[in-house]
Amino acid sequence: MIFLGALFCALTSFHAGGPRPAAGKATSRRGVRTIIIDPGHGGFDTGTKGLFSTEANVALSISMKLGALIAETFPDMKIVYTRTTDVMPGGGNTIASGLNYRADLANRSRGDLFIALHCDNDGHPAGPFTVRRLIGHKYVGKGRHRHRVPIYETYEGHHTRAGTEAFIWKADRGGFKSQAINDRGEGELSDSSGESNSDSAAFDMNSPEAIMRAQLYEQKYFANSALFATLVEDEFTKAGRTSEGVFQRDEGIRVLQATGMPSVLVEMGFLSNVEEEKYLNSEEGQNEIAHNLLEALRRYQATLEGHPINTADSTTSGTGNQ
Ligand SMILES: [Zn+2]
Repeated sequence: MIFLGALFCALTSFHAGGPRPAAGKATSRRGVRTIIIDPGHGGFDTGTKGLFSTEANVALSISMKLGALIAETFPDMKIVYTRTTDVMPGGGNTIASGLNYRADLANRSRGDLFIALHCDNDGHPAGPFTVRRLIGHKYVGKGRHRHRVPIYETYEGHHTRAGTEAFIWKADRGGFKSQAINDRGEGELSDSSGESNSDSAAFDMNSPEAIMRAQLYEQKYFANSALFATLVEDEFTKAGRTSEGVFQRDEGIRVLQATGMPSVLVEMGFLSNVEEEKYLNSEEGQNEIAHNLLEALRRYQATLEGHPINTADSTTSGTGNQ
């Protein structure tokens, strides 16, 4: 796997040279110094499909916009992309190899935060569909052939499920209770969203390393993953999007635990919904989502550095207490 080293360098984007901002601003040891941006799917794996776009391409496009914004806002932050083109990360020909590569790259890069960007579907092919509805009955025929038949009307239906949700890895925390975090059972998402379940093939969750990571996650990463996920959903809500909330899952999302750092998977919207597909593909929509994610990162960073940005303030003024 020697070629991985070269790929790693190629995919690692250090910020451009030039004068650094005044020291002491955003260099807290507790903050995010390296962020891993993971555009979901790629290459042979298109992810879910809309009428005219694929999840892999929408995720890549928004990931690159997010990375550019982060580079501008946090010039000292190192940004590592798991992919910058339409390929399966690592160049393998299975989804499992790609998941493995993503987690490995994140860990070797010593990321402080892992953010995977995805799009959802509601379990149906995109596009309008015909709905037939019973509206009454009538009698046809004569004499003993006379009988009642149903009357139907047909109309065009549209998939209306819309909005965002964020997933964090389901730590085995008996005592953990939070109103903000929902527990979504296994299978519920995987069957409908187009997210693969092949991560059970990619990661050995019983290896000593995985068990150690799970303990670390519980102790150190769960709270910060939940914090970042909650901030992301809050920013989407402020932008007028529908937020289905923050969920914790295990199956189909183990890449989050395989990365030894706070990690969040964001479903940015439904490609099965025509209106939302247009939004997710528009310059305006992509910029808005990238800004929402940036704002969540800004608040996350400020919280870790011990000077959280007041939510109410940041709604109305961009200044906060920065
Ligand atoms: Zn996906």
